[in-house]
Amino acid sequence: MTLKERDKKHLWHPLTQHKLHPETIAITKAKGCVITDENGKEYIDAIASWYTCMYGHCNDYIISRVFKQMQQLDQVVFTGFTHEPAVKLSEALIQILPENQNKLFFSDNGSTSVEIGIKMALQYHFNQGEKRNTLIAFEDGFHGDTFGAMSVSGLSVYNGPFEEFFLDVKRIPTPNGENHASILKTLKEITQTHDVAGFVYEPLVQGAAAMKMHNAEGLELILKFCKENNMVTVADEVMTGFGKTGTYFASDYMETKPDIMCLSKALTAGLMPMAITTCSQEIYDAFYSDDMGKGLFHGHTYSANPLACTAALAGIELLQSEEIQKNIQRIKASHEVFNLRIKNHPKVKSTRQIGIIFALDLNTEMSRYGNLRDKLFQFFMDQGVFLRPLGNTIYIQAPYVITEKQLEKVYQTIEEALSIV
Ligand SMILES: *Cc1c(COP(=O)(O)O)cnc(C)c1O
Repeated sequence: MTLKERDKKHLWHPLTQHKLHPETIAITKAKGCVITDENGKEYIDAIASWYTCMYGHCNDYIISRVFKQMQQLDQVVFTGFTHEPAVKLSEALIQILPENQNKLFFSDNGSTSVEIGIKMALQYHFNQGEKRNTLIAFEDGFHGDTFGAMSVSGLSVYNGPFEEFFLDVKRIPTPNGENHASILKTLKEITQTHDVAGFVYEPLVQGAAAMKMHNAEGLELILKFCKENNMVTVADEVMTGFGKTGTYFASDYMETKPDIMCLSKALTAGLMPMAITTCSQEIYDAFYSDDMGKGLFHGHTYSANPLACTAALAGIELLQSEEIQKNIQRIKASHEVFNLRIKNHPKVKSTRQIGIIFALDLNTEMSRYGNLRDKLFQFFMDQGVFLRPLGNTIYIQAPYVITEKQLEKVYQTIEEALSIV
């Protein structure tokens, strides 16, 4: 029996209706930008396996660092203990984070990093004797699948069974250059009628909303409003972090820095699951007390796992290298040229790009989980390119080590796909 057949016996996959989508593809190996299935067919991983392995799959440098760490210290409790990988990672990460970020809190995935950001925001006010129960978030945002994260997510396509258990969240549209005054007006109305604890947002790019992009000046105005009203700002950079937007973090585009940041996905270069919620000294200070109860009583068993910390540290070193920085500029420039080639195609409604993220919307209406979307996905896979269209959006977010030849194959495959929609 093939892996694919054996899989069906016991495995339940994420985000999958198994009756409608019974088929999986068994991947047996990955190297650089290429993943290989059990029949030996190769695919260019043009979405970096959900934006994680940005320095390429099975990166030799990262592997050798983690292998060394494995022989030294594998896992230890992080309550009351510390270790070199966590300390070194904190020093390296603080160097590249926005200047106001000063403390790191570990967890295991993007959703938990957001969950922690929300708890920090709520308890920040609680510890000062203020009860603030409402959060603000963008429409169409995605922040993960745990309850707090689901609550602030606007993309609640299938959240029906849970909605009545959600936190109190008010939504605002993303800034588009024309709606800024009306967003500020809405914010004022919300703060007059609700006690708002904080604002949770994906800065500049909403990944799961099909790489929807918004305006940095508009976001700046919103962040300023939040600061003036003592609302804690929580930037979910789980997708945008670590170079995707051309800067280390999307928050680098705004002058007003977030109080809290959520990091995961590319944090560990795709090698291990881990997340970090970072915060400013001011947030940390609100928990620093003689009173036990004012601490943040949250913790995960694998917090700051030494192997994951080592992978993250090696990833940051690569991100800062001249080679990767050059690659980011190269991919950005290639996307710009591809954009000129494709933007006027009759099947293309619009295109957008920031850093190495490129997206195009098709003229055709296509539902998020519809047949056409499946047909398009199948076409890409048949051509040996792993792209996952979201609704009528096709986007590229390839590892920084993708070659020009591989990129050209991705571009050509997208052009060919336009003729089948
Ligand atoms: C993927 C993602 C999450 C959730 O991360 P998981 O590791 O899948 O829990 C949260 N926020 C954003 C912006 C993401 O892209």
